[in-house]
Amino acid sequence: SVYAENDATVAAIAEAKFGSMKDKDVAVMYTLGTGVGGGIIINERPFTGTHGMASEIGHSIIGENYYNCNCGANGCLETFCSATAIIKYAQKLMQEGNKSIILDMADGNIENINAKIVFDAFRENDAVAVETINRFKNYLAKAMASMINTLDPDVISIGGGVSRASDVILHDIKDLVRENVLYKNEEFADIVCANLGADAGIIGAAFLQ
Ligand SMILES: [Zn+2]
Repeated sequence: SVYAENDATVAAIAEAKFGSMKDKDVAVMYTLGTGVGGGIIINERPFTGTHGMASEIGHSIIGENYYNCNCGANGCLETFCSATAIIKYAQKLMQEGNKSIILDMADGNIENINAKIVFDAFRENDAVAVETINRFKNYLAKAMASMINTLDPDVISIGGGVSRASDVILHDIKDLVRENVLYKNEEFADIVCANLGADAGIIGAAFLQ
């Protein structure tokens, strides 16, 4: 028998079995990479919905954006919180004339910018990087707050390449989420980074049935 599943869903299966979402009844994973994927695990099973279309949380529409998503819609989480979104927004600010150390870090070529460079520049307090990363975190917090209002999970785990900047993302994300949740004075989901790294997808795929 052959089984197939979305890459973010299998990563979520692995994190739920062995990683950051182990032993949780309701767990949500955001995979922040080139795009944004997601997996929702309920009672140890991936939630795929009635028609198999569920858990596409990267295409939750969370605001108006200045460019459209690959899916054709405007305002998808993926266009605010992927590595691609971070790169595009930093490039936009620089093309508008804002000076930034990002350009030097990218060897003078705006096309060489990657998300790691923007996070590194954020740690140096570069204004373009700070605006870009704060925007990213604010939209991520809005998405997570909507998820909490809908599913009230035990844990939300952040995976994908962008999660390597966990120090920058995690330190105040709960405060940002709290500003957006309905029940502001209640305890809500732990927000953590995934811990199986790039192997999560392979591990989770082995457990499809
Ligand atoms: Zn989309």
